[in-house]
Amino acid sequence: MSLVTRYAPSPTGPLHIGGARTALYCWALARRHAGRFLLRFEDTDRARSTRESELAVLEALEWLGIEHDEVPGFAGIPRQSERAARYAGIVGELLERGRAYRCTATPEELEGMREAARAEGRKRVYDGRNRDAGIPADVGAPFCVRLRVPDSGPETRWTDLIAGASGEAPEDIDDFVIARTDGSAVYHLAVVVDDHDMGVTHVVRGREHLSSTPRQLLLYQALGWEPPAFAHVPLLVGASGKKLSKREGDVSVQAYRDRGFPAEAMVNYLARLGWSHGDLEIFERRTLVELFSLEGVGRAPAQVDEAKLAWVSQQHLKRMPAEELAAAVQPFLDAEAGEPVAIGERLRAGLDLLRERSETLADMARQARFLYVDELEYEPKAARKFLKPPAAPLLRDAGAALGGLDSWDRAAIEAALGGVVDAHQVKLGKLAQPLRVAVTGRGASPGIYETLEALGRDRTLARIEAAAARAETVPSD
Ligand code: GLU
Repeated sequence: MSLVTRYAPSPTGPLHIGGARTALYCWALARRHAGRFLLRFEDTDRARSTRESELAVLEALEWLGIEHDEVPGFAGIPRQSERAARYAGIVGELLERGRAYRCTATPEELEGMREAARAEGRKRVYDGRNRDAGIPADVGAPFCVRLRVPDSGPETRWTDLIAGASGEAPEDIDDFVIARTDGSAVYHLAVVVDDHDMGVTHVVRGREHLSSTPRQLLLYQALGWEPPAFAHVPLLVGASGKKLSKREGDVSVQAYRDRGFPAEAMVNYLARLGWSHGDLEIFERRTLVELFSLEGVGRAPAQVDEAKLAWVSQQHLKRMPAEELAAAVQPFLDAEAGEPVAIGERLRAGLDLLRERSETLADMARQARFLYVDELEYEPKAARKFLKPPAAPLLRDAGAALGGLDSWDRAAIEAALGGVVDAHQVKLGKLAQPLRVAVTGRGASPGIYETLEALGRDRTLARIEAAAARAETVPSD
């Protein structure tokens, strides 16, 4: 039997990194075992669920490369809001088979039961008063439907594939409501019916759903269905150690994308928030698929760590294939320039130089600015320090030497600049620093020869000329 996992978000907002991590684990497990990874929208909260959120979730998953499979027997991605009739049918079946019964207890009666349970220190609240009353559908009073929960038996316990031995004593569980007085099925029933109908073999989900599992297992038993395996992923916590919240800033996947973290880096970082394999820290999606196992997921809450994310991101920027890097950085270049930027051979070489020095794609685009804008802006501090009168003759001579080159490559550039510093009897830094500010506008950049090579002859010469003119005109201090 092939392994089937699912991710079942409630589409009430963007996809947060906690949900993305759960989806990633579901996906990796399915891919690892050549199984299927399915998606379903749990949109029973009609007031808060929107199509816009569905699209945001899909877009975030697509960006991360977590692609889902089609659900056999369903047209498109199942939505709970479209399955009310199926749930009602299952409730009817349970009633018919005596596994469920109608209950007309009023809110006042229930309050009385709650008080009695409290006084006696019992967890079970409902006293079973309508269990055997045989209340018919046409009773003429509002009724809900309750599941007949056995007093004993092993169904409410399971071995969680992450959390280990889990469960509750059946005698602590009420005959819980499976259909409300308006006839609508409750969430637990919908989840069980959906997972069954979708053929899910492994339910991998957030730790917050652990306490729902005993009730869901009771439903599997009542329906005579084989329950799936369960694996509850520990919580994600913020830097403070508390549940991830707004305090950590925007933790939606889209926000990380917009800040310029490459998708591969995000996948790597999210996977490592809870999963480990030896001392493996940096890996691509395909390696995750080769190595992922639920045994590798720890039981302790995982803490988000921005510094770690920045480091992981930098490692990916260093190793990304050139084509992929160009595609990923393109929107950031366009945004920085305020117009579409063509990535030619030169710019590509320049981006290569910046791999070592960038933590995000946005960071890389900012640092690469000198390579694709016509008008350079000098960093005020760098200009003040290096574009001063004594630098002018050095810059002018460098311009002349570079202007006379037959070929524009690193070796020729190095030789030309070497000639200039020799003639002036100065160290390379005396020329390289003003030159760096002249061509990049900044006080720091990759090696000067490579930088000039990537920038190209025309822009280099024009910028040296402009910088020399400026250096000549500022008063000496
Ligand atoms: N819809 C639930 C959520 O968004 C998931 C429930 C489940 O995975 O069983 O957290």
